[in-house]
Amino acid sequence: MNQTPNVALLPSPGMGNLIPLVEFAKQLVLHHHHFSATIIFPSPGPPTKAQKSALQNLPKTIHHIFLPPVDLPKDQLNVASQIFLTMTLSISSLRDTFASLTTTTRLVALVVDPFSISGLDVAKEFGVSQYLFYPSTAMSLQFSFHLPKLDEMVMCEYRDLPEPIKLPGTVPVHGRDLADSVQDRSNKAYKGLLANVKRFTSVKGIILNSFMELEEGTIKDLQVEELGKPPIYPIGPLIQTGSKTDESLERPECLQWLDDQPSGSVVFISFGSGGTLSHDQLNELALGLEQSGQRFLWVVRSPNDKSNNAAFFTAESQNDPFSFLLKGYLERTRGRGLVVPLWAPQIEVLSHCAIGGFVTHCGWNSTLESIVHGVPLIAWPLYAEQKMNAVMLTEGLNVALRPKREETGLVRQEEIAKVVKSLTEGEEGKKLRQRTEGLKDAAANVLSKDGTSTKSLSELAFKWQNQMNI
Ligand code: UDP
Repeated sequence: MNQTPNVALLPSPGMGNLIPLVEFAKQLVLHHHHFSATIIFPSPGPPTKAQKSALQNLPKTIHHIFLPPVDLPKDQLNVASQIFLTMTLSISSLRDTFASLTTTTRLVALVVDPFSISGLDVAKEFGVSQYLFYPSTAMSLQFSFHLPKLDEMVMCEYRDLPEPIKLPGTVPVHGRDLADSVQDRSNKAYKGLLANVKRFTSVKGIILNSFMELEEGTIKDLQVEELGKPPIYPIGPLIQTGSKTDESLERPECLQWLDDQPSGSVVFISFGSGGTLSHDQLNELALGLEQSGQRFLWVVRSPNDKSNNAAFFTAESQNDPFSFLLKGYLERTRGRGLVVPLWAPQIEVLSHCAIGGFVTHCGWNSTLESIVHGVPLIAWPLYAEQKMNAVMLTEGLNVALRPKREETGLVRQEEIAKVVKSLTEGEEGKKLRQRTEGLKDAAANVLSKDGTSTKSLSELAFKWQNQMNI
């Protein structure tokens, strides 16, 4: 058997969890050369282009295994149910993989994410230590730990509570801004979540993609030693590295366009790998951007009136997104705005000096990418725990503006124009930029040689290196 300590990582389907887990594996093997890692993919279909590209150019000591794709029922399942079912149906092939990995390598840990937590059972069967990678905020982790108690104490729907919920170290959050999965307590998804978060206490440690200066109060509270509370390792901000466009290829049009724009003048609009807007909302956004008179770079997907994460598994929309834009829009805005279909090299965009703001769905990867590059935000949460992230960014960290929605849920063009202008032109925008710059420096510090996140990772590696198998 190979005596190099090997860590298995089990990302749930979708890119949002895969990207930081891959980065975690890279940090581990690059900083701690005596480690190897194996990424195990459960999936409802063959590997996607996005998955394959995330695996390109990895260090040789990171291996990957695609489990056989599972067959999901044909009926319409929401994204969370598809993920959970994919995990359940993958357990037996995961077991086979463990049987082989534990005989050929010194497997010291399995790291799951909150959606692949059912994999912990297999690790337990094989006597392998179990860890959770938490790819979101310390605030939402804190909420997860308190959910069983809240469930006992609160009788109504959380959104009907008259007062915001205040958890130790976090900014108060109104029930309506909690994650989608807790908005309907009679739903099966809520019961599933409750069962899941109860399992968080059973792991040997939780690896958190956040950092001390960003969420100090909450992280310190999470780190208070108490019975049933696993150690927390804040190792962030981990954002995708090495995703630069291949230099042999032509520089993407949107980057070339940014090269010609004044510094800090362009607002970037993108709703993550899966976010979609309704048709009405798409029109309002288009008109709001036009009305703002500011420069913009907008990643457009085809609208969807039923779901706000319609592109989650594919990161692609079914139709030509430009065909949904108002007639004459592209011609009218040409020069001042650039609209690109489906996907943009986000990190390269955010690191470009022409970018002055980011309208984001507040996915945690996008948020960290913006902070690492010192770009202030306009928070436009769509799904999952993004509303909670928006509260933290606006009320806790003061690095974002949040446009107001009408009762119908629509954000009107006038409101969009107003917030875009205040971010790029106003005094408020200046202050947000300064605070974001401060966080950018803090992010660089925590990842430096003696930074708190680097130390956390070393502590974890030391523990894995020296543990006797359980
Ligand atoms: N992304 C990108 N180009 C796009 C849209 C998204 O490169 O046009 C990347 C983005 O940089 C981030 C990830 O996809 O790393 C999205 O993750 P996030 O957690 O923000 O949102 P999710 O897609 O999980 O909702």
